[in-house]
Amino acid sequence: MEVCVLASGSRGNSIYVSGGGVSLLVDVGLSARELTARLKKAGIDPASLRAVLCTHDHSDHFKGLEVFSRRYPVRLFANDGTAAGIEQFFPGRAFDWEIFETASGFDIGSLHIESFTVSHDASDPVGFLFDDGVSRLCVVTDLGQSSTVVRDKLARCHCVILESNHDPDMLMASDRAWSLKSRIAGRSGHLSNADAAELISRAASRDLRTLLLAHLSEECNTCALALNSMRAALLQAGRGDVRVEVLSQREISPRYVV
Ligand SMILES: [Zn+2]
Ligand SMILES: [Zn+2]
Repeated sequence: MEVCVLASGSRGNSIYVSGGGVSLLVDVGLSARELTARLKKAGIDPASLRAVLCTHDHSDHFKGLEVFSRRYPVRLFANDGTAAGIEQFFPGRAFDWEIFETASGFDIGSLHIESFTVSHDASDPVGFLFDDGVSRLCVVTDLGQSSTVVRDKLARCHCVILESNHDPDMLMASDRAWSLKSRIAGRSGHLSNADAAELISRAASRDLRTLLLAHLSEECNTCALALNSMRAALLQAGRGDVRVEVLSQREISPRYVV
């Protein structure tokens, strides 16, 4: 399977996944113009994409969807709650959704996909596990706390894209409103570096080879803090061999073969 993260963070998210003869995007949180430019820069033909899968109805995950899905013939997948939430944002536009049940599995070509609930303040937010019969990839960003389901999914994967959103001290010292600070740090908000590290130390199996840290706050985190926290946890768990990298809002990631 191949994965390329086109953008990750509160100003826009989109992830390219290719496996089982199918190429798709998880979320279209950049403008269609910016996303198309980034795809081309990464050597990906936007016309080759078969589907877009939506994780949840926050605009940093879907704001380019309306234009992108008119421009390219992609199938649109979401659960009911997310589809309804996105439609509210684009009045008058009827999307041709393919609705999946959260916690169910479905196939696109030979790529098997499982969705699972995450704790986040959106209509019905999910993470995804992709299985092309050779390797498994988990995408889990935007969650305030882990759960047995999340740990079980991570434990099965060779590559994990996991949120490592903020450093709690930097969040508290920031000039954000108290309500926003408590939303971010709350159970339906975002994982801190320490939360992400603890989750991986509990959930990582011997299968895990690549860990990509996602959705870093630009104001309340640094790459070094996120990396150091995760690397220390992996070393302590005897998994210093896992490749750990940080994803960026501004830069396209390499194309990882996982
Ligand atoms: Zn987000
Ligand atoms: Zn969100």
